[in-house]
Amino acid sequence: PQLANQIAAGEVVERPASVIKELVENSIDAGATRIDIDIEKGGSKLIRIRDNGCGIEKDQLALALSRHATSKLHSLDDLDAILSFGFRGEALASISSVSRLTLTSRTKEQTEAWQAYAEGSQMAVKVTPAAHPEGTTIEAVALFFNTPARRRFLKSDKTEFTHIDEWLKRIAMAQPKVHFTLQHNGKSVRNYRAANTQLQFIQRLGQISSRSFAEHALHVDCQHNDLRLSGYLQAPSHFDVNATQLDVHYFYVNGRLVRDRLINHAVRQAFSFAESRGDAKLPCYVMMLDLDPHQVDVNVHPAKHEVRFHQARYIHDFILQALQSAIAEAHS
Ligand code: ADP
Ligand code: MG
Repeated sequence: PQLANQIAAGEVVERPASVIKELVENSIDAGATRIDIDIEKGGSKLIRIRDNGCGIEKDQLALALSRHATSKLHSLDDLDAILSFGFRGEALASISSVSRLTLTSRTKEQTEAWQAYAEGSQMAVKVTPAAHPEGTTIEAVALFFNTPARRRFLKSDKTEFTHIDEWLKRIAMAQPKVHFTLQHNGKSVRNYRAANTQLQFIQRLGQISSRSFAEHALHVDCQHNDLRLSGYLQAPSHFDVNATQLDVHYFYVNGRLVRDRLINHAVRQAFSFAESRGDAKLPCYVMMLDLDPHQVDVNVHPAKHEVRFHQARYIHDFILQALQSAIAEAHS
């Protein structure tokens, strides 16, 4: 199983940022409202994620570390599972096959916490008593210690940190109600407090982008049948094609970050840049599109961000119109 897990790890775990992505998504799936991320040396020495989610029962701990033993997908029609982040049941097994991983957890029902770690190459899991509040802490130490080829692929601590930081911004905008903190080498570097109001959301937007974008952004909120687009768009009066632009182009479909040409095209067109080449700068935006999950195929590969809309033209035009009317409203 160790080798199979290491091979699977190649898909799921490319670098520290991908470990953090998997772990934080698990925390979100577990209903956490606070997630503390602690890393050392860009995550290559240590990644520790603590959450206040539902926790893992003692007799589920070993299972959580084994492959395809996910509790989240019971049938392919299980839409709740598809809407949650994880349903492949590979992340923990993969990460524990390429690091020294410990899992400490306590559920609401349990009076004491338990800790599990995979021991030796056969991945026998040892479970011992531990101290922990309700929730889960996962610690991955010495990433890729046993796969030197992959370890050599890691970039400098600073670059790995930047990947983590950038990814955290994206998830933080999609999960405004979750309080996130990030520590690097013992120093607190990010603190995104829970945003429960529009004003707090704009404050978080200011933290992750720039205050000037957040303060002048146009609010978009448009609904049509079961389509809804909401979010913030850079005001045309504050957009300068020649200025150095922030790279804030976040688009979420049913809570998942996607990269999509159709969406870029609609944004460009709303700004009447339809003619410009693909490399021209785009205005900043943070947008959430929510629609019937049956109307979209999300590529289940964890490392990709692709989607396919069944009615692409319809979605494109809906986005375009929503943006155009927000822009028109700002002008009137
Ligand atoms: P998946 O998320 O695809 O189900 P993972 O390997 O990421 O697979 O996680 C395995 C299982 O461990 C999850 O299905 C979940 O039951 C449990 N789990 C992992 N992380 C957490 C967490 N932070 N809180 C509660 N349960 C967790
Ligand atoms: Mg998962």
